[in-house]
Amino acid sequence: LELLVRGWAGLTMRGGGVGAVESFSIYVEDGVIVAAGSDEEVMRVASKSDHYFDVRDKGLIMPGLIDAHMHTQLAIARGFCQDVPEIEWMRKTVSPIMKHVDKNHVLAGSLLAVLEALKTGTTTLGDYGHRMSFLAREIYAKYGLRAVLTETINSLDSSLSDIKEDELYPFDIERGYGEFDAAKKLYNDFHKPPRINVMLGPQALDMVPLNLLKEITEFARENNVMIHMHVAQGGRERRQIIKRYGNSTVKILHKEKILGPNLLAAHCHDASDEELKIMAKNNVKMVSCQRSIALIDGIVPPLAKYLLLGGLSALGTDQAAGNNNQSLFTELKFVCFLNKVLMKDPTAIPAWKVLRLATIEGAMAVGLDDYLGSLEEGKRGDFIVVDLKHLNLNPVLTRPVRNYIFNLVYSSFGNEVSHVFVDGEPKVVDGKVTFVDEDSVVDKANEMALDLMDKAAGEYIDIDSMMVKYLWRGLI
Ligand SMILES: [Zn+2]
Repeated sequence: LELLVRGWAGLTMRGGGVGAVESFSIYVEDGVIVAAGSDEEVMRVASKSDHYFDVRDKGLIMPGLIDAHMHTQLAIARGFCQDVPEIEWMRKTVSPIMKHVDKNHVLAGSLLAVLEALKTGTTTLGDYGHRMSFLAREIYAKYGLRAVLTETINSLDSSLSDIKEDELYPFDIERGYGEFDAAKKLYNDFHKPPRINVMLGPQALDMVPLNLLKEITEFARENNVMIHMHVAQGGRERRQIIKRYGNSTVKILHKEKILGPNLLAAHCHDASDEELKIMAKNNVKMVSCQRSIALIDGIVPPLAKYLLLGGLSALGTDQAAGNNNQSLFTELKFVCFLNKVLMKDPTAIPAWKVLRLATIEGAMAVGLDDYLGSLEEGKRGDFIVVDLKHLNLNPVLTRPVRNYIFNLVYSSFGNEVSHVFVDGEPKVVDGKVTFVDEDSVVDKANEMALDLMDKAAGEYIDIDSMMVKYLWRGLI
């Protein structure tokens, strides 16, 4: 199968910046890039093609974006977990809803989130959650998508909504091992790099007993896969860990030799400067979900600090129930804004850098940079076309500097993405998903969300979160 796309310009992400090339074209055979560079060079190689797209009229070609941390199934609860105190978000909004989900809700929510992500330029979907084998079968493998999948392993005795906030969470050892088995099954059935890649997902140190965490780490090392874990994610976790172990999460993980290059640590917004240093020194990879943590916790995760320490990081949109969308282009803008505020420095994380975080550096962080993240011969044909004709992206100039690189980050919404290719296969063409009917996905998500909220409503209302209080006060 051959694919030829001729563009107005391209960002290759080669070298230390964005690797911009004017009159850029790309040619892919059997999923692998054969030529990517000036149109003249590429046309010497690309004699024929099954698929041909001519986007020389302001079509910008760039690597597909890498979203390393998403909980797609939570999209079914979009707009139901908002504007509450940090301690309430999981216990009083997410848990009372998600304990009523069944497979149909999960599938409907995930598919909605996956389409949203793809249409806004994400080609590598880093999905994290329960029932991941089901989603791998019903979405990722079925539609030929690029995914990094993590089955959640948690050992909590019951839903968080049933536990008092100042009590130590009781562990259900059997449940933890059951979920570890499900994670191993996902690995055995679906780990087929580079198309589908599996990581091991102990949810967080407060949700998994230390012994189990050590066993998971051992399995990950033996099989050369990464551990994907929420680390130092705020006050709720800190209270639990201090109470149980008398020290912080990062210090415990360091002591137990779990900090290392195969750990992908999500969030880390409760890590001190000293702890970030320890993580960077141990080559821990971070995945930062800036908007999500800002919205849920009112905190800016220390991404800029970690980068200054020489740490590697990917980006993530986390979940639509607390973010509230899966568009990485929107995320890029917020990553720059929030870190400039965090560092009180308008030069913190410039536009070119955030584009690298979402592509080549994100690929390095998840261990897939041999295949993804830049446009060069031998890598997989995962790339997108951004239509620079949109009002908000203009004027578009290449001299005296390429202003469109800044416009791409600070002026885009994500809906400027016109084409999306994975392994050289067209997944979005002219803004339309090729493999499923979008309207039916939206209809199904609405039907399933209503069904879910009908089941969860009693508990969701009874637990009396701040959101419910808004309701009683007639504010929403
Ligand atoms: Zn998460």
